[in-house]
Amino acid sequence: MLTGEPVPVEKTSGKSASDGSEVTGGTLNTNGLLTIRVKRVGGETTLARIIRLVENAQLAKAPVARLADQVAGVFVPIVLVIAASTGFFWWYSGASANEILSYTVAVLVIACPCALGLATPIAIMVGTGTGAQHGILFRNAPALEAAQGLDTIIMDKTGTLTVGRPQVTQILTVEGNSGVPVPDEKEVLRFAAAVEQGSEHPLGRAVVAEAEKQELDLADISEFEAKTGFGEKAVCNEKLVLVGNPALMRAENVFNEVPENLAKQIISGSTPIFVAVDGKLIGVICLADEARPESKTAVRKFQELGLEVVMLTGDHQSSAEAVASKTGITKIHSGVLPEEKAEIVKQYQAQGARVGMIGDGINDAPALAQADVGIAMGSGTDVAMETSDIVLMKNDLRHVADALRLSRATLRNIRQNLFWAFGYNVIGIPIAAGLLVPFGGPALHPMLAAGAMAFSSVSVVMNSLRLRGFSFFKS
Ligand SMILES: [Mg+2]
Repeated sequence: MLTGEPVPVEKTSGKSASDGSEVTGGTLNTNGLLTIRVKRVGGETTLARIIRLVENAQLAKAPVARLADQVAGVFVPIVLVIAASTGFFWWYSGASANEILSYTVAVLVIACPCALGLATPIAIMVGTGTGAQHGILFRNAPALEAAQGLDTIIMDKTGTLTVGRPQVTQILTVEGNSGVPVPDEKEVLRFAAAVEQGSEHPLGRAVVAEAEKQELDLADISEFEAKTGFGEKAVCNEKLVLVGNPALMRAENVFNEVPENLAKQIISGSTPIFVAVDGKLIGVICLADEARPESKTAVRKFQELGLEVVMLTGDHQSSAEAVASKTGITKIHSGVLPEEKAEIVKQYQAQGARVGMIGDGINDAPALAQADVGIAMGSGTDVAMETSDIVLMKNDLRHVADALRLSRATLRNIRQNLFWAFGYNVIGIPIAAGLLVPFGGPALHPMLAAGAMAFSSVSVVMNSLRLRGFSFFKS
């Protein structure tokens, strides 16, 4: 639950209660019996600490300064002063009460900042609506505003850049070394999958899934024996089949060391499962949590948008490097503890970076809350989605680039809206105040002022609706 990794971690007992492995509350014991000494309860548990980190990060988040609020804050008092001065001016120049009232009201009516008030919310409404139609869920308006200012994207690996489940990536055969005449890849997979039928282990399930994908018929097995932490043993087609790690092969006298030529072929970062039939090694099935097919394009899009891309993972350096090299990421932080993820985001922010964090697990939650914009995978945990600002409903990382572009487009739209809303007022107010009258020009009747004011709102709405035509990456 806490690490976000798909493969269970082996825990070993100690001689005394103090030197055994540490286990975390709320996680799953998949196999075996545990006798546990409880060291921390309630608010001191790891989960409670993560929740506290999330809450602190959320509290510390600075609110986004609203452009429209800033403009309106200056604009409204100025208009009131202009309206008052207009009335005073016409009273001073001896106009009739009717005229004074007409000019003053015309100024107030045309200055009504309703287009100004509409400028931001309408653009955000259309922007978020357009995003939602394409599976990009902005959970709050400030997120849409903040996304355009990002310069750094920090990404979790497992479940974010990768699918989050191990898959068969490679099958190696050992020729002329087995009871089976010439083992081919299908043969190796068929034996392994037969033994792994009904396995609860993620690696075993991945082997069976691959056999199903290749539409292999799996033989029945007997005398099945699961050796926790090692692998499985069973009789299949009257042959004794072993499927497991090097330790199992050593224990069953298949080999002492992994044959060198085989070891060389195993892609680094993947997990090998050895398959032996009647005491002879016939092949190796390699599994890895593969990068999502669109991850590479997504990383390139981020780089094109001028963002620095960083991988942040609790996994080992070798698995991290394997995924990084496939996706084009050059900056990696590996072996990061759940509590440290938010700390690393903070360090980037301290250096002046504006960070977008993408993650899926409970361990990512504090970092998602700490980041300027937290982005969660739709396939992720509820906690991650709850702490994030943007949710990718289709789990497509390219949508993050879309979200940033949409945010930029929306902000541009807001500025255009403000310009139009403000432009009407700048032109309209002097005319309404009767500035042209002394030069023989027309006065603006309050009713016409109301019409012009309404039209400014219409033009702002029309401008924002253009956002509906925003072009997304094809998915
Ligand atoms: Mg993860």
